[in-house]
Amino acid sequence: MKQDICYKYKNNLYLNITNRCTMRCPYCIKYRWQWKYRGYNLRLKNEPAAEEIIRAIDSRLKGIKEAVFCGYGEPTLRLDVIKTVAAHLKKYSVFVRINTNGHGDMINGRNICPELKGLVDRVSISLNACNARDYYEMHKPVFGMKTFKGVVEFVKECRKYVPEVVITTVRLPGVDIKKCSEIARSLGAGFSARKYLQGYEKT
Ligand code: SF4
Repeated sequence: MKQDICYKYKNNLYLNITNRCTMRCPYCIKYRWQWKYRGYNLRLKNEPAAEEIIRAIDSRLKGIKEAVFCGYGEPTLRLDVIKTVAAHLKKYSVFVRINTNGHGDMINGRNICPELKGLVDRVSISLNACNARDYYEMHKPVFGMKTFKGVVEFVKECRKYVPEVVITTVRLPGVDIKKCSEIARSLGAGFSARKYLQGYEKT
């Protein structure tokens, strides 16, 4: 079956640049939905090169307001691809967003936020716990107990270089939405509580 490296939804173009991830979230839909999404096959046999992504998006840019680097996976595992493709999108004045788990600095071993300046308009960072232990227990991140602190630092650094930084939290049992929103506010980030997606949903 053909792999889909980008797909349109409403006025957005979503870019599926990797299936790899540094966490294993219990709410991750890629396993429950067999890597499908709205009829697209997001299971990548090969991670697409930047040139391949650019070829794929160029024929789909008409009417697109926003391009979103996402997955099914953690996009900052492919930072160079993000930078190359985002620079291309900026030639067409497309609003660029990254959906991330906030591990970008830990993954790349440096502060990557200055590299996003001028290329990325919004970073949407997933945060579903309010302390290091709960975060680790829920997500089993490869960076261990220090990951929560790393995500908080990532939010702070993003705020210096990216115009819009938003923390997103899934409405799951046991997740304290109010506390997560307070963390977002204390970091100067926006906040959005997201619906927990049970099964395949068309809207
Ligand atoms: S960070 Fe995203 S892709 Fe990775 S396991 Fe969690 S929900 Fe899935």
